[in-house]
Amino acid sequence: MDLATDFFDVDGIITSKKNLTLLTTSADCISMLLFDPIKSVIGNVHSGWRGTAKGIIKEAIKKMVVEYECNVKDIICCICPSIRKCCFEVDEEVKNIFYNNYKEMDNIIFKGKFKENKQKYYIDTVQINKNMLYSLGLKKENIIDSNLCTVCNCNMFHSYRADKEKSGRNAAIISLI
Ligand SMILES: [Zn+2]
Repeated sequence: MDLATDFFDVDGIITSKKNLTLLTTSADCISMLLFDPIKSVIGNVHSGWRGTAKGIIKEAIKKMVVEYECNVKDIICCICPSIRKCCFEVDEEVKNIFYNNYKEMDNIIFKGKFKENKQKYYIDTVQINKNMLYSLGLKKENIIDSNLCTVCNCNMFHSYRADKEKSGRNAAIISLI
């Protein structure tokens, strides 16, 4: 295994190794930290809107269960500061991706303003990830949400929507000791 090349350009990583730090960086995307204290397994998942549309968090939880024998009831998930429904404004095209992929979910798409000849929408990507975690069997009390929007709090966090190309990146870090 070569840590420098095997894990280059990935959106999620899981380990049961001690003293190995897992880090994801983001500026508005959702980082989710996973921890199973019973099996001593951790994960770090970067879920941008495309990752959320494809359900990367589901894949991570499934891997923890299948490859590390975790029980979903033991897994704790921390949802880091990210863009929230208050600021994640999208066009029809992106809205339709979420609409088609998550038809069974309520309260994830909200109609926004009509701007520049286009209907805008707001998507609650955090709620989509939470719904996936619930449907996999994680306990409500084990999903810990920072409830912080990086755009609304761009004085505290890096935000691509707020700062554009000048934006730095936030780091989400987890390690077993
Ligand atoms: Zn906001």
